[in-house]
Amino acid sequence: MNGTILLLAGLVLLLLLVAYAFWRRGRDLRRTSGLPQGKVVYTDMERARPPEAPLRSERWGLVGKPDYILETADGLIPVEVKSTRLPRSGRPYPGHVLQLAAYCLLMEDIYGQAPPFGYIRYGDGQTVRIPYTEALRNEVVNTLKAMRAGERASDVPRSHASSWRCRRCGLAYVCGSQRLVA
Ligand code: SF4
Repeated sequence: MNGTILLLAGLVLLLLLVAYAFWRRGRDLRRTSGLPQGKVVYTDMERARPPEAPLRSERWGLVGKPDYILETADGLIPVEVKSTRLPRSGRPYPGHVLQLAAYCLLMEDIYGQAPPFGYIRYGDGQTVRIPYTEALRNEVVNTLKAMRAGERASDVPRSHASSWRCRRCGLAYVCGSQRLVA
């Protein structure tokens, strides 16, 4: 009888230790990444975990992997982590906002509920909350349409005047006359 009690006590202790280890791992992950509050239900940022499957939407022809999805009191929230600093203006880069909005669109289609907002976490430790408004949703949908139209077009005009972008561009070798650097 004493042996059974000892065995049960040992099992309970073991379960408590495992639960504590999981809690610590979640806490450490949040501390190092500076994540807002919420339970991490999807991440591609933790090496110890097997890789997450990408989120896919047939409807939008979109595939993507958010850095994190948090389960919060406001629902499932995407988090995009950037190594760059938040611009001095305090406003995130438009491309980062559109990327986050694309994750919101994916999640809306896959989970049947649109995230009310998402976060962009910058390398300098600043986190910006981006409301997923109807205007932002329209912007990302229109951008997708423009990209689809561009894929079908024989020629697509350059959308910027930044030579540094062309210098770092992986498509420069097929770009032709639109390229801003030799
Ligand atoms: S090289 Fe062409 S595709 Fe690349 S950034 Fe410049 S204009 Fe755009």
